[in-house]
Amino acid sequence: MNLTLWISLLVATAAGAYWFGRRSRSAAPPPDETFEHITLEHLQLSSEIARQVSAMLSLDGLLPYVVRLIRERFGFYFVGVWMREEGDVLALQAGGCPQEVRPPQKGTRLPVEADSPLGRVCTQGECIPLDDTVKILAYPHLPELPDTRSALLVPLRMGTDVIGLLDIRCKRARSFPSVEITLLQGLADQLAVAIRNAQLYQTEQKRRQLAESLQKIGSELAGSLDMRQVPQQILEQLAAVVPYERGSVLLQYGDELEIIAQSGFPDDQRAINLRVPIREGDVFKQMVAANRPIWVDDVTQSDGWQQLDWLPLNRSWMGVPLITKNRVIGMISLTRKEAGAFTEEDAALVLAFAGQAAVALENASLYDEIIRFNAELEKAYHNLARLDQAKADFIEVAAHELRTPLTVIKGYTQVLATRPAVVGDGENQALLNSVMDGISRLHEIINSMLDVSKIDNQTLSMHLEPTWLHMVIRRVAGELKTALEERNLALETQNVRQLPWIQADSELLYKVFYHLIINAIKYTPDGGRITVRGRKVLGQGETPSVEVSVQDTGIGIDPEHHELIFEKFYQTGKVSVHSSGRTKFKGGGPGLGLAIARGIVEAHGGRIWVESPGHDEEHFPGSTFYVQLPVKAANPQYALAETGAMPVGEPQM
Ligand code: ADP
Repeated sequence: MNLTLWISLLVATAAGAYWFGRRSRSAAPPPDETFEHITLEHLQLSSEIARQVSAMLSLDGLLPYVVRLIRERFGFYFVGVWMREEGDVLALQAGGCPQEVRPPQKGTRLPVEADSPLGRVCTQGECIPLDDTVKILAYPHLPELPDTRSALLVPLRMGTDVIGLLDIRCKRARSFPSVEITLLQGLADQLAVAIRNAQLYQTEQKRRQLAESLQKIGSELAGSLDMRQVPQQILEQLAAVVPYERGSVLLQYGDELEIIAQSGFPDDQRAINLRVPIREGDVFKQMVAANRPIWVDDVTQSDGWQQLDWLPLNRSWMGVPLITKNRVIGMISLTRKEAGAFTEEDAALVLAFAGQAAVALENASLYDEIIRFNAELEKAYHNLARLDQAKADFIEVAAHELRTPLTVIKGYTQVLATRPAVVGDGENQALLNSVMDGISRLHEIINSMLDVSKIDNQTLSMHLEPTWLHMVIRRVAGELKTALEERNLALETQNVRQLPWIQADSELLYKVFYHLIINAIKYTPDGGRITVRGRKVLGQGETPSVEVSVQDTGIGIDPEHHELIFEKFYQTGKVSVHSSGRTKFKGGGPGLGLAIARGIVEAHGGRIWVESPGHDEEHFPGSTFYVQLPVKAANPQYALAETGAMPVGEPQM
């Protein structure tokens, strides 16, 4: 209990003893009318009110209780608590009058005019007794309380501020003795402290609630990435922060807003995915322009307000922008039945909330996009896989179908070559040789197609045997000797002879080095050099391996193609400038050589890759292809086919 009240009580007690004495000689005090009815009972009342005001933290509970208590115990006609609001108005927070009288509504507002009694109470902070209100024009008469004849306006003071007033009205013109005024002012002071405490408590509670809600929302929304759930969760969580009757989350799509979640709508079906056109100057546009929440106290008073006819009319509306990356992506729209329901504070709370909600919405929509994108990718991947399979099937069928007639042609050509018309005629012989060259080129391509389809279908059969790569490379060099001479290219080997024997399929490895060296020939200008080097290394997983590199002084390969050239049919140049020469400079080919080489090397548990600074047909930076093969076959499937023990040391050639 504060000092003022103690003093009030002391004063009142002293006075009360006297009245108490007088009262004993008279009948029960007439209610409401004179100070004589201030008795010990009133002092107890003031102490009870003091106790209650210090205990109650909710204004909603405290104010009606206090006004009722004061009115009943003192026998006043009306007791009300008005609080000052922005714009110098007083708003009725609680009011009590006899049962038969309908009290003025909570929220009733009175202007505070400077020269009126209300103005004076608010500026001077002193009680104003009005002994005969009928005579005072500036007195705030209320139609609900027509019997008011006298009144006491008691300021609710906080330091030097007047935060509101206690409005006491009596039914008869009367004067208010100073002791009564002191007593009521004491109560009012106590009430003011209690109101401030309750306000602080409410603010603190709201803040805590908001902080808790925001935290909860943060973690719940962060955990939920489902675009179908997030907007609904936003509305549910929001209700804990700012009460509303109808709420919706709307996202902007072009010049429309779509309701993606709603709560409190009468017919749920009709509101789902409802689209509302955005019009010039409508509330959404205004909100975007203001870049902050806006609200309408009473939509029925707002020009051009448009409302869906199947929605019950709610008079208060608030729109809060959903902003991410400085862009308004939509809004949260809230309504309440009564007018003037939303406050600045509500707007601030919803705005803090909307920040989190917008991020969650964006995350969810990004996530949704990723999911959609993934689904599309998966579809595309399946399509590609299907196409790839179709291609593999085509290669296999075409190769098989071409091989048979080709064998027939080859056979007849060989027969033709023995005929006297050819043997004895140099010109015919030359013509037939060209035909035979073409046939063997065709044969080579068809074999490549068969190889690649075996790799694709994983039907490559491997016959592992002790293999000396020196021999393999010598065979390739022998095969390509003419081509090297024609193109004036030097083929040099370094350290290949020193390579250990490995477990491998020498026929397949022959193909690997055949393709690598023929490529080196094709992509190196005349007069260039091809160097084949060997060395022992630890390959993948520290496996003892051999490494053979084929380096040329050719046109080189841009890094972006280093991986892709190992795909079948991939060529760095244009297919249209393709020439089918086997060893001509930049002669091109079907684009199968490296795919076959990689398939074979990987089937051996090895690795193949290329290094080259880039493609340059002026300076010829060259390319180096590397092949690493494990000394012992890594693939157990093929290891079964191993034939005998590995020879040790260098073989005799
Ligand atoms: P192709 O039948 O076209 O030679 P490959 O699979 O053997 O098919 O090679 C694929 C592509 O890789 C070639 O078209 C060529 O562009 C490039 N390439 C291969 N080897 C070399 C090399 N040594 N120098 C430059 N480019 C090369």
